Amino acid sequence: MKKLIMVKYAELTTKKDNRAFFINTLEKNILSGLSGYKVKITKDYYRMFIDLSEEDIDDVIKVLPNIFGIHEVAICYFSDQKTLENICLLSKNIIKEGTTFKVETNRSDKTYEIKSMDVSRQVGAYLLKNVSNLKVDVKKPLVTVNIEIRKEGVYVSGEAIKCSGGYPTGTLGKALLMLSGGIDSIVAGYQTMKRGVRLDFIYFESLPHTSLEARNKVIMLSKTLKKYGNTGKLYIVPFTKIQESIYKNMDNTYMITIMRRMMYRIGELLAKKINALALVNGESIGQVASQTLTSIRVVNDVSNYPIIRPLATFDKLEIIEIAKKIGTYDISILPYEDCCTIFVPPHPIINPNLNHVLKEEEKFDFTLINEAVENILTIDINKEEIISDLL
Ligand code: ATP
Ligand code: MG
Repeated sequence: MKKLIMVKYAELTTKKDNRAFFINTLEKNILSGLSGYKVKITKDYYRMFIDLSEEDIDDVIKVLPNIFGIHEVAICYFSDQKTLENICLLSKNIIKEGTTFKVETNRSDKTYEIKSMDVSRQVGAYLLKNVSNLKVDVKKPLVTVNIEIRKEGVYVSGEAIKCSGGYPTGTLGKALLMLSGGIDSIVAGYQTMKRGVRLDFIYFESLPHTSLEARNKVIMLSKTLKKYGNTGKLYIVPFTKIQESIYKNMDNTYMITIMRRMMYRIGELLAKKINALALVNGESIGQVASQTLTSIRVVNDVSNYPIIRPLATFDKLEIIEIAKKIGTYDISILPYEDCCTIFVPPHPIINPNLNHVLKEEEKFDFTLINEAVENILTIDINKEEIISDLL
């Protein structure tokens, strides 16, 4: 008898042609998520089995629900002895006293001599006799004992743990997340990863107006997403000259609007350079002056690149709830200011006028954009080291 973890795939099973690619990517992501453990994975069209040391099972079963592309996981017993007596013993292992249950049997080995219904009935009767305080409930049981009789042996699994679902990260290309130190953008990144998208990160920094602590906070945030799937690099854009130039020369009520247009411009240039297929940000309709629909319309005007706003329709409280669930909230509320907050004018414009913006931007020296892109700092967040001052 062997104790395994059974992994059931999420939505990827509907993707017929890409199925092998999805399953292989999921396997890679699981192996990387479980890099601290010695595991062996076997997989087929419908599920995976993870074979590992018994003492690691309790820990690993807590890690797996974070990894995107998994619908549910369950402890599963395997044996190549397919006798009814043995199936009964395996089933007894996965059921606790005092619960309601039903037994379901699936026989892909059609040469097996007992019919599925009869296996279920006999195992059910055995459990009622040998485990105290059990009750059969075929409609809404607390535990379903799943028995699968296959060529190589029998698999018996019990209570399943619901996982995050989504697609395996990396199966749907790469995007560039505009990551600030706040609550929202990292949650936007998490939501995007859930759809199979791998992330790189871009952070606009205004030293010395912002601190290295603020940068560290962003690095810490970017690292939190590692446990949900693979992530890439963090690009730090020196944004000081651009912000100072806007601050000194342009209509201050338009400060944020114009600054965000510069961010989008740089984001698009970098995204194209690193083959990221979209920009992602944490904008949420109406949350602040720069996120009214008018503001979004005026800011978005600089780019026709795809811009994903996973939180567009979320309330702040909903965002905070996710941030707490994924473990980013406590980092996000650390006090260090990022570049936006420092240059916020007392009365930012709620309904910016595009013509006025274009007029104001005539005063801007656009070579500063290229200069900023050329001086981007790249950090490999997995290795925790600065790779280069250039791309
Ligand atoms: P957050 O809580 O993520 O900071 P916010 O509610 O403070 O968001 P804004 O500061 O207006 O909102 O920013 C909106 C979005 O723009 C952020 O969610 C983020 O995606 C992006 N952004 C803002 N500041 C930066 C920055 N310094 N570097 C990179 N992206 C940024
Ligand atoms: Mg912010």
